[in-house]
Amino acid sequence: MREFAYKPLPHESPLNLVRIHRIGSLDKLAGLVRAYSNRPGFYVSVYAFEPENRPGKLDYDTAIIDRLYLDFDSKEDLSMALYETCMTKDVLQDLSIEAHSYFSGQKGTANYIDFSPTAIAVENKKEVLGLFWDIVHEGLYSGSRRLILSTLDGGSVRGDIARVSRLPNTPHKSGYFCVPLNARDVRKGANHIRQLAKQPRYDFDLDIIIKDNIRINDRVVPGLLKNLEDVVVERRKEEGEERESRAVQMRRAPAAEKNGRFVSKEEIQMAKSYPISRILGNKKLVFCPLHKDDVPSLSINHQKNLWRCFGCGRSGNVIQLVMEMEGICFMAAVRKLLNYVMYECKVYT
Ligand SMILES: [Zn+2]
Repeated sequence: MREFAYKPLPHESPLNLVRIHRIGSLDKLAGLVRAYSNRPGFYVSVYAFEPENRPGKLDYDTAIIDRLYLDFDSKEDLSMALYETCMTKDVLQDLSIEAHSYFSGQKGTANYIDFSPTAIAVENKKEVLGLFWDIVHEGLYSGSRRLILSTLDGGSVRGDIARVSRLPNTPHKSGYFCVPLNARDVRKGANHIRQLAKQPRYDFDLDIIIKDNIRINDRVVPGLLKNLEDVVVERRKEEGEERESRAVQMRRAPAAEKNGRFVSKEEIQMAKSYPISRILGNKKLVFCPLHKDDVPSLSINHQKNLWRCFGCGRSGNVIQLVMEMEGICFMAAVRKLLNYVMYECKVYT
């Protein structure tokens, strides 16, 4: 089952924003694409949830992944995105993974990889995809390749590989259609592709392409993802054991925590509750001490003990305020506030 969603048209209820259709087969998916392809802002997500024992019910405990997207969005020009699409496709090919490309309708392209549905526990999904991305990234930066992608940044991609993306032959607000691209199109460059994208492409049989893609990628991708999940699970177990042993050490050596950098949760809470008004006064709007302020632009919520400056954009609780004002780290700010609390206890009692 896939999630199937579209943005509502101006006269439609915003509740249509995410409408989930049950899609059990590629034929049904293709039918929906035909029926909805005149709609702007149309997406299909790449993972779905259907428990084996209760067909038709949504189950968010398992992520079933059957397609991965790598999106290349270039702010400047399409040729950059195209170049990086090609390079990434080469790397995937080195891994025996076959990707297909499409033009997303503005200045971006995407590679996508189809394979048979592979169940990954939902809590592992993000990390599994992150590891997958690491492998691709390593390939981009090895041998004769020295490619640092500018249109696809690792930071945002790590968790995003399998998120929603646009379907082929659907219009983009730029006026271009999202069209599938073959290797020849990609080589012919940006102008050729813009020309192609002025209308939907029916010279592609997407159903056959997807089935072919699944057949080829099934030799590698589902197994690879499962292996990566094992790595994630193993890592988490090791981290848990390490945390446990650190906790044991901490309990055994209470002296260290008094002399060391350790502050307890309770102490952080106590520091956090030190009133901002004692530092900046009782007003709701004051001059910001963090930037050259001509009009009072730092607003204080005394009830919640939070602050935000509309001039320099900084904000936070009282700990962050002391950090910013004094240019000190979190721990130092907590200790400083604890000292204030202690001092005031002595003065007022
Ligand atoms: Zn400010």
